Amino acid sequence: MSETTDTIFGKIIRREIPADIIYEDDLALAFKDVNPQAPVHILVIPKKPIAKLADAESQDRDVLGHLLLTAKHVAEQAGLTDGYRVVINTGPDGGQTVYHLHLHILGGRQMAWPPG
Ligand code: AMP
Repeated sequence: MSETTDTIFGKIIRREIPADIIYEDDLALAFKDVNPQAPVHILVIPKKPIAKLADAESQDRDVLGHLLLTAKHVAEQAGLTDGYRVVINTGPDGGQTVYHLHLHILGGRQMAWPPG
């Protein structure tokens, strides 16, 4: 998928397409991944349309920190007391397919390392 200024995640933020939204505040949104790779698979996104981590700038420091704290909060709410994995795929080699920055929260099973 090529990079665009708008993506399917922008449509989810604007409620133009449905999603199973589980958390929202002024900076971030969290919703269930439509194609889960673990028993719990949640995406945390900024409302600001940063295409990928590699495009983040120093002025994004607060929103980037907020995304990690939101991931922690959402994982707690999902009951992931034995741990979980947080993944950011960035760019083609990173396996990114949706060009709106997102954190994957994966849990509910033992994760393997190295990832594929
Ligand atoms: P990535 O490969 O890191 O860019 O991850 C994109 C993720 O978005 C994949 O795990 C998809 O399953 C997920 N995804 C794509 N479209 C939707 C959607 N409409 N609602 C929820 N998750 C989606």
